[in-house]
Amino acid sequence: MRYFLSIISIALVGMVGTSPAIAQEHLKIVDEPLELTVHMHHKRYPAYNEEWPVEQEARRLTNIHLKNATMGSNTDNSGEAMNLLLASGNIPDIVGTSRIKDIVNQYGPQGAFLPLNDLIEKHAPHLKAYFDARPDVRSSITAADGNMYYIPYLPDGKYGRAYFIRYDWLDKLGLDVPQNVDEVKATLEAFRDQDPNGNGLKDEVPYFARQWEELIRLVTLWDGRSSGSDIYHDFYVVNGQIKHPYAGEGYREGIKNLTQWYEEGLIDAEIFTRGSSAREYLLSENLGGMTHDWFASTSGYNTTLQDKIDGFLFKAFAPPASISGARIEENRRIPVKPDGWAIGGTNEHPVETIKYFDFWFSPEGRNIVNFGVEGVHWTMEDGKAIFTDAILGTGRPVNSQLYELGAQLHARGYFQDYGYEIQWSNEYALEGIALYDEGDYLIDQFLGVAFSEDEQKVYDKYWTSLRTYMLERQQAWILGTGDVEADWDDYNSDLNSMGLSDVLAAMQSAYDRQYGS
Ligand code: CA
Repeated sequence: MRYFLSIISIALVGMVGTSPAIAQEHLKIVDEPLELTVHMHHKRYPAYNEEWPVEQEARRLTNIHLKNATMGSNTDNSGEAMNLLLASGNIPDIVGTSRIKDIVNQYGPQGAFLPLNDLIEKHAPHLKAYFDARPDVRSSITAADGNMYYIPYLPDGKYGRAYFIRYDWLDKLGLDVPQNVDEVKATLEAFRDQDPNGNGLKDEVPYFARQWEELIRLVTLWDGRSSGSDIYHDFYVVNGQIKHPYAGEGYREGIKNLTQWYEEGLIDAEIFTRGSSAREYLLSENLGGMTHDWFASTSGYNTTLQDKIDGFLFKAFAPPASISGARIEENRRIPVKPDGWAIGGTNEHPVETIKYFDFWFSPEGRNIVNFGVEGVHWTMEDGKAIFTDAILGTGRPVNSQLYELGAQLHARGYFQDYGYEIQWSNEYALEGIALYDEGDYLIDQFLGVAFSEDEQKVYDKYWTSLRTYMLERQQAWILGTGDVEADWDDYNSDLNSMGLSDVLAAMQSAYDRQYGS
């Protein structure tokens, strides 16, 4: 069936050049325009804009018109907006928001949202083909009652963050790229002591990060873990067993050593407080030596700073080997996000709505949601959508421009096309990605679970205070309060008396049900 569909798709794409009007008739879902109400809330766009070019193009092609019915547009907190919507008791035809997964899994079985399995099976060939090809993604969005209640935002591309270091500083000090944890320490010491920025001051900040969690990430160099997914502090899975990274021995060893690094001035003294401007400030002031951050945006500093700082070269390097010799990159793009959209429980046009959701997974819809409007924002070249100067010629961040068109919105269920990003990744980013590809450093991700009511109760009862306690102790150790080795047994018995084993058991039962034990 999938093979058959892809032949149809190819045939239709082929027809676009000769007879677009006929070729696009098949995208029409209804003969007369049909209006559907939508709540769409994300911190970047707290309402649905009916003037978005992407909405206008979808209207033209499908005859479905979305009408904005977003609650809570005066807040940028999507959770608050959702609470207002649920409290109103008036759920629109379509609901799209960040972190919709837990909401629909909880309220879908109670009738607030429609189950999608049968609708997809009967009316949504592109969605069905996607889920048939990715049973792991299907499992990850299946609620405890066996139904799917939302269509997720599905990121494309594998890579997120990487290790970055000042290659020009290494060169200046006669050092090679560090290959293991000991060499990383020696390199950071050299950055601290040998004045690589050449101003005669001991002002270098050897390791820095925009997010302090990227300091904790370094426990992987001692075979610890900091997260199992692209969400900080998340659970992880080893051989089918759910664990939490902050109760493992590699973590203890890692924290012990990072405490030492912090005390010795190898880590930014302000790592916990400097915040999101850390990278911009420490790189542009020629102070920062090494970090762990996103490929594309971090590589971009080579373009902006090479004119200002003589020889500036901040490039990705391969994950250093841990104490056991393992080279892993813990962060990667997750294939499925908890963001996306769902069908309201009182929607009177479920078939048209699922067909509309399916439209965004068709080749034509997927190009529109990823790139904007054909002929304006992109043109088709050799079967690929290529941005025009209307996007690439402005000098403005491509992501922001696309959001303004209504493209790449995470509160819509869609399948991202990595082709959109590669077109503005610079040569340093592409070189780094090739390096990581060659080494195959990525590890499997935990895609999350959907709790039953009883499991949810256990999680709600214990998790928030457990997490708070773990993070408090973590920060205290790094800052030199207490001693992780001496405190370790007490810390673990605290975690258990605070319910960690109950939370793990609840997650395990949900995980086994969802993914098979
Ligand atoms: Ca200096």
